[in-house]
Amino acid sequence: MSTAGYITRRFAGTGTDAAAISAFLTELVETDPRNVLPEGDNPPIWEPPVVGIAAASDPMFETLKQPGVVGPIHVDPADWLPGARSVVSFFLPFSRQVKKSYDKHSHLPSLEWVSGRLNGEVFVNVTRRALARYLQAQGGRAVVPNLELRYKAVDLIPMWSERHVAFIAGVGTFGLHAGLLTEKGAAGRIGSVVTDLDLTPTQRPYSGVYEYCPWVTDGTCGACIARCPVGAIHEHGKDHRICLTNGRDNIRPAYAAWGYHSCGHCQNNLPCTNGIPPGNGRTARPWSRRNGWPSGSGSRSSGPAGMPSGIPPSGFPGA
Ligand code: SF4
Ligand code: SF4
Repeated sequence: MSTAGYITRRFAGTGTDAAAISAFLTELVETDPRNVLPEGDNPPIWEPPVVGIAAASDPMFETLKQPGVVGPIHVDPADWLPGARSVVSFFLPFSRQVKKSYDKHSHLPSLEWVSGRLNGEVFVNVTRRALARYLQAQGGRAVVPNLELRYKAVDLIPMWSERHVAFIAGVGTFGLHAGLLTEKGAAGRIGSVVTDLDLTPTQRPYSGVYEYCPWVTDGTCGACIARCPVGAIHEHGKDHRICLTNGRDNIRPAYAAWGYHSCGHCQNNLPCTNGIPPGNGRTARPWSRRNGWPSGSGSRSSGPAGMPSGIPPSGFPGA
């Protein structure tokens, strides 16, 4: 099959604002034949994204280097690409079919979910590369940090945290479960591209690191605490190391024939699965507006600022 028309069509779009980039990625997600599960009737894995743009000079990138946020290992946009001016971040929500397959009464995730997590990651990389080529087609240079040869994570702490970058780009805020809550929910994956194009940053529609999570802002919800089968989520955040034991000890053996291993209990069948959950805003916890980033990814507990042991002092959840 000739791919000439296919490639041309995929790069026919122009425009460098968030709406134009979103339109390009939406077409990619809706038409690319790689966006399917290999099992069953080959339903789509991903639906159209939420897109945000951050200025490479945003001072929040410096914040990410603080111990307890992501850490000193985190690299600035200009270190990935000299002359960087902007960072484009996208959140791909899992498809309705994948989320619907997740049985809330089962202790195991569905086959569609575990397959989507593993096979869907390939398409996240397709999206990252396509976005980079799109920005190059608009006249810029572009780098995908997570696909650079020098990219690494040390003790589960990454050189580039997609979740934290997405927060800076206005894509969403963190939740108690340390995942990102977006207008299209929390069940999804994130990617980003650094470019030297001078793009208009997205206005962040929030100020608090956990603003979309009613557990933090109202003292309500907290549903993900009970949902976690291994107690990795507690009232102060998430312990990534405990989370990893579930995939290793319970899910991997159950899906050994497929090689799948990803839990998704805290992304499915919850108030934040498909959108921003409602909150009443009357009983905001005192730390909800602090710079309480979750930590980068994983060697320690992550949760809001000012909380007891293991909670990063800066407020963001960990890497
Ligand atoms: S389930 Fe509730 S408490 Fe947990 S992250 Fe989602 S909105 Fe926040
Ligand atoms: S992915 Fe599963 S094991 Fe990990 S925190 Fe979420 S519910 Fe718990």
